[in-house]
Amino acid sequence: MAKIIFSLSFLLMGLVHFSYGQQKCGFDDFVNNNPVLKSDLIKHTEEFKAYQKQNNLRRLYTYNYDTTYVIKVVFHVLYNTPQQNIPDSCIMTQMDVLNEDFNRTNPDTINTRDIFKPVAGKLKFKFVLAGKDPNGNPHSGIVRKTTSISVFSQTSGGDYDSRMKFNTQGGSDAWNTDEYLNIWVCNMFTPQSGLLGYATPPTGAVNWPSNVQFSKAQQGASVHYYTVGRYNPNATANGSNSLGRTCTHELGHYFGLFHTWGLRSNTCNVATDDFLEDTPNTSSPNSGCNSNRNSCQWNEPGDLPDMVENYMDYTRGSCQNTFTEDQAAMMLFNMKTYRPTLYELELEQDSTFVGNIAIKPVLLSNPGNRLIIGADNYSNTIFSVSIFNNIGQTIIKDKDIVLDKPFEFIASSFYNYGHYIVRVTNQTTGEEEILKWSNASLF
Ligand SMILES: [Zn+2]
Repeated sequence: MAKIIFSLSFLLMGLVHFSYGQQKCGFDDFVNNNPVLKSDLIKHTEEFKAYQKQNNLRRLYTYNYDTTYVIKVVFHVLYNTPQQNIPDSCIMTQMDVLNEDFNRTNPDTINTRDIFKPVAGKLKFKFVLAGKDPNGNPHSGIVRKTTSISVFSQTSGGDYDSRMKFNTQGGSDAWNTDEYLNIWVCNMFTPQSGLLGYATPPTGAVNWPSNVQFSKAQQGASVHYYTVGRYNPNATANGSNSLGRTCTHELGHYFGLFHTWGLRSNTCNVATDDFLEDTPNTSSPNSGCNSNRNSCQWNEPGDLPDMVENYMDYTRGSCQNTFTEDQAAMMLFNMKTYRPTLYELELEQDSTFVGNIAIKPVLLSNPGNRLIIGADNYSNTIFSVSIFNNIGQTIIKDKDIVLDKPFEFIASSFYNYGHYIVRVTNQTTGEEEILKWSNASLF
């Protein structure tokens, strides 16, 4: 019975998409049709809520804005026709869109209504095309392959097509999904599927069975080829108005966000909404850009309309311009908890320390629990390094190093998560630099 209902709603959503040009993604169907995934996701969301409550989320959110999270991206472009082999410019502008949208440096933030500006969220995520392949060889970060498959939109038991993720099935094998964000670009849309993309949420990273969708080899996002980038030559021809925001939306799911209406449409039940406080309760997807719709009216002062400018709605790309703070914090929490090796940290030097700019030691890539320090043009200079934890205890005292190449500290004490202060002293000049470092676990 459940399956019949699912199929019907799936078909209806496809039709809705086709009629109104509404964005459609596979997340709800996927989750509702996978009980284990669904309970896992809800469990993780509850963990986040508990964490949010315990740690006064917004304060932490602000604090962590000092840290840049660098995420390596690989695109797999699968084409059955020349049009589907989208040009590099689409990928480049897609990267721009992702970096702008996640960092809230997009030019259309001015369109966020005043009622939502106080909760507009941003993350210091830096998406970069992978400069090397998994073997360490130079690479553009764009894999292109022809495919005999004309459209990747098979559904089986409610699961979406995953053939694009496997060489043996007409797709392209993922690069290690623990270290790379894989984005597959292919032909997905049919009037019946209405599908513009889907993504694997961060769940089951440890215990997720390997024989089901969302296994390690499938982690990432899949997007329809004409949604990619800002000036996609196929977009106009096909009436697409994504402007690259399908990918932003799908990465929202990849980092664990629900749609603004939650998992179940057509209800204002807060228990089935998106679990977040700062996205207004919403009963069902919005299309176009109707700023007057208030799908869940409480007849109370302060009741807000639907947040059509949210990336996790189905509104057109030009209507969308923001995540919320809770969404941003939830994405960060999910990445740090369930995708802990996906990113490298790039910390800024403490802006309050202005004394000795002659030394420029920097924290380099910090995957996992590694602390790596480097400095340019100091090949003959001895630095002494001390490391303190966040309650002032000395972890490493006056270790002398020459920073002629990046130096890596591996200390068991770093496996405790938290913030550390790294003091680097130039032994020749006595100048000091203070760096902040956080390990790769929780905040
Ligand atoms: Zn979605």
